[in-house]
Amino acid sequence: MLSVTEALEAISRHAFRLPTQECLAIEAMGMALAEDLVSPVESPAFDKAMMDGFALIAADTQSGDVNLEIVEEITAGNTATETIQSGQAARIMTGAPLPAGADSVVMVEDTQIDSENVDRVQIRHHVKPGSHVLKKGDLLTKGQTVIAAGSVIRPAEVGILADLAGAKALVHRRPTVAIISTGDELVGPDVEPGPGQIRNTNGPMLEAMAIEMGATVKQLGIVRDNRDELSAAIQEGLQADVLLISGGMSVGVKDFGPALLEEQGVEKVFHKVKLKPGKPLWFGKQGGTDIPTLVFGLPGNPASSLVCFHLFVRSALNELMGRTNISPFVPGFLLTRDFVNPGNRPVFFPAFASRKEGGGATIAPLNWKGSADLATLSQANALACFEANSQYEAGQFVSAVMV
Ligand code: AMP
Ligand code: MG
Repeated sequence: MLSVTEALEAISRHAFRLPTQECLAIEAMGMALAEDLVSPVESPAFDKAMMDGFALIAADTQSGDVNLEIVEEITAGNTATETIQSGQAARIMTGAPLPAGADSVVMVEDTQIDSENVDRVQIRHHVKPGSHVLKKGDLLTKGQTVIAAGSVIRPAEVGILADLAGAKALVHRRPTVAIISTGDELVGPDVEPGPGQIRNTNGPMLEAMAIEMGATVKQLGIVRDNRDELSAAIQEGLQADVLLISGGMSVGVKDFGPALLEEQGVEKVFHKVKLKPGKPLWFGKQGGTDIPTLVFGLPGNPASSLVCFHLFVRSALNELMGRTNISPFVPGFLLTRDFVNPGNRPVFFPAFASRKEGGGATIAPLNWKGSADLATLSQANALACFEANSQYEAGQFVSAVMV
């Protein structure tokens, strides 16, 4: 049985980058840039005033008390017509280009104008050369990488793309994710469950997680534990980039998933991972076609399914979309209580992580009742990671997966 780390490595080895496409930056929110964004220009393009005030020659203020002639007014979006000579200044607004001859800006709050002589300005201190001026090229040089490939497009990136790339972005297209919920016992949200029946929780939950990751979802609905029905659904699901099958992946008499997947040419990469919850996880790949399909057989128990998605499916979707795939494990949480894991598999235990006053973070394992307990998971914002056969004391540090 693979460890979690080995399973993640196997997924990463079999994952691939989806084809790229150009789209509007605003529509690419949450997606990753497929190529470095290189600045085609210098920024700013001109020496720029960073304050409302007066543009002047710093050397003129050496004495600490000068009176300068105001030769013109330059507002943002306009350019100067005069060259500043010694003894002169130009009234200038934030964002306006510095006039030729000037090297500094003094802010209006540090100046005085005599109402009898509004064409002159008094400056009663020494101005440092370059004050309140953003020099041409200070922010970006031409050819500089501004956003690295793999970076997720957030509002700041949308702004940069608007500035430098015509508000467009080259991204790996959104993955399509097909979802099959298997189980004779499952009924939909509008049906009153009969004896032994339960509602399909995983279908909508997995859809929600896939959407959160930026995927486009094709819901294939509830499929009975019956070879023909499941076979047909798998065939349809293999049209997607990623196929998620919930339930039927273990060793029960009606767990047809693994056999049917292999029958349909999906190559098994691994079955079962050393973790709790989520041991029955199945992962395979159907290659040979233009764009392969990654297949995850997720355990039927809702909490197990959710944990497997967060740990494994999330990682695969990141790779497909070309997002820099960072480890799901965040170290350094102070445990708030003792915890014992007597089992021989690492446990990913629903917990609540919070920031501590003065720095650091704590993590409180919740009163979780096991794989079927989704309600407690909804109180959690993290999964605390505990090694197999281990005993932890309050105050020890553990890693967590944020959920
Ligand atoms: P399985 O993995 O098919 O053996 O199912 C394990 C457990 O999860 C059983 O108790 C199932 O009833 C339950 N289960 C399976 N699929 C779902 C689902 N879609 N929603 C809620 N519970 C499920
Ligand atoms: Mg089942």
